[in-house]
Amino acid sequence: MNSRKSVKIYDTTLRDGAQAEEISFSLDDKLRLTEALDDFGVHYVEGGWPGSNPRDEAYFREVKKLKLRRAKVAAFGSIHHPRNKPEDDNNVRLLLKSGAPCVTVFGKSWDMQAKEVLGISKKRNLEIIHGTIAYLKGKVDEVLFDAEHFFDGYKSDPEYAMRTLAAAREAGADWLVLCETNGGALPFEVEAIVAEVQAKMPGARFGIHCHNDSDTGVGNSLAAVRAGADMVHGTINGIGERCGNANLCSIIPNLQLKMGRKIAPAAKLKKLRGISRLVYELANMAQRPHQPYVGRSAFAHKGGVHVAAVRKTASAYEHIDPEIVGNRRRVLVSDLSGKWNILTKAKEFGLDLQSKDDATRTILAKLKELENQGYQFEGAEASFELLMRKAMGQWKKKFDVVRARVVSSFSNEQKDNWAEAVIKLRLPDGTTTHSVAEGNGPVNALDKAVRAALVNSYPELSDVELHDFKVRLLDESKTASKTRVLIESGDGERRWGTVGVLANVIEASWQALVDSLEYKLHQRHAVKTGKKKKKGKRKP
Ligand SMILES: [Zn+2]
Repeated sequence: MNSRKSVKIYDTTLRDGAQAEEISFSLDDKLRLTEALDDFGVHYVEGGWPGSNPRDEAYFREVKKLKLRRAKVAAFGSIHHPRNKPEDDNNVRLLLKSGAPCVTVFGKSWDMQAKEVLGISKKRNLEIIHGTIAYLKGKVDEVLFDAEHFFDGYKSDPEYAMRTLAAAREAGADWLVLCETNGGALPFEVEAIVAEVQAKMPGARFGIHCHNDSDTGVGNSLAAVRAGADMVHGTINGIGERCGNANLCSIIPNLQLKMGRKIAPAAKLKKLRGISRLVYELANMAQRPHQPYVGRSAFAHKGGVHVAAVRKTASAYEHIDPEIVGNRRRVLVSDLSGKWNILTKAKEFGLDLQSKDDATRTILAKLKELENQGYQFEGAEASFELLMRKAMGQWKKKFDVVRARVVSSFSNEQKDNWAEAVIKLRLPDGTTTHSVAEGNGPVNALDKAVRAALVNSYPELSDVELHDFKVRLLDESKTASKTRVLIESGDGERRWGTVGVLANVIEASWQALVDSLEYKLHQRHAVKTGKKKKKGKRKP
């Protein structure tokens, strides 16, 4: 029955994850993530190292005010300094002062590290491990021993590496966490070593803590669970120092869906993509589109043959149902598209389009023509939805552009860019509206001016924000030197992409911008009049 056993998830995004070079979580970020991780269902949240900086000390003070339902907060630190006794070691004192119910201390399991890094004897190293854990035990709910460099240590001197675990266990450690600190091991080695350790120390509870330097952080963690580990350490999205930590966004669904281990109820697994995105947002990192399970391309199908097959049986090119992890299937429209792509896309948009409809042929022909001109709809599904609706006669214009003008100036000396846009639009009732706006560049000025012109008639446009703006110069031989602009917009709830292609970069941007606003207005209208299909998940 071993395969149905539950596995404890120990999240260290806030401590090991925050060691990644580009990441710095604020105190508020850390508290918000703690709540999100608790809600998602991890068993432990390692909040920080109270001895390392004042922010982590403040975290442990504030985290007590949160009402966590499931997650136990853990404080991380080292075993006491060789010169001290545990009771007068500052690091140990701060771990206790944190008030965290769980304390994780790390110590050396590799004889070479004890001798050369700490400069102490192998015997003294064992005394320190034992002394620290014995002192902590009873003062907090749970004590974990992180056996640093365990796998390298075991390869070098298995007998000594086991003695470090034995010292921790005798002192009362609740968990012995085998750390693959340098990230150099491979899954078959990890599995063999964990199995041996397990056999030599029956009854002990083991955890695994892997880094991703050989791109095997996830594989090594799964191998350790197969061999008997019941706790996995990792970070959301695998963020962490060097090449990162073992990625919980892959480990959790693999354990639950492929290895039959119990972690989170299905409803919580649906939040996997959400938590991945939250960590990217707070870390201010771009999401990895091809990230397994949670990336936006993880279930995206492009080739016509694949799409036709997926329409019949989703499992043809999908390893799981994307909705289980809160992701969704996407069909990409491109010149590889056949009719099936168009029909599948229509269904996704909530449009009733049939294979034999004239509109289907029109859309396909239009798509090929636009792609020849350099359009690409893979990141611009909102523009594609507009194109389809127009071809199907399901489109009502919300405004017409009578004239738009933009001037911009820049100065190297003052390092300030300035632009002004003047816009005149005609509304469906025949009235015109006119506005002027300044911005720090021409697109910014145009964006502000067009929204100022429309916001009285369409107040919902005040929620729209531009998130990303990409410009690509297209190959001259094919397209007579055109520019393609991709814009990503959002309104706090959804994000959508639109595209413009023209010789002039400002005009191309304008085209994408107008599509973005038209799309928002259409969505709003569809929701208000209840036309939106109930399954219309329209996050392009
Ligand atoms: Zn680590």
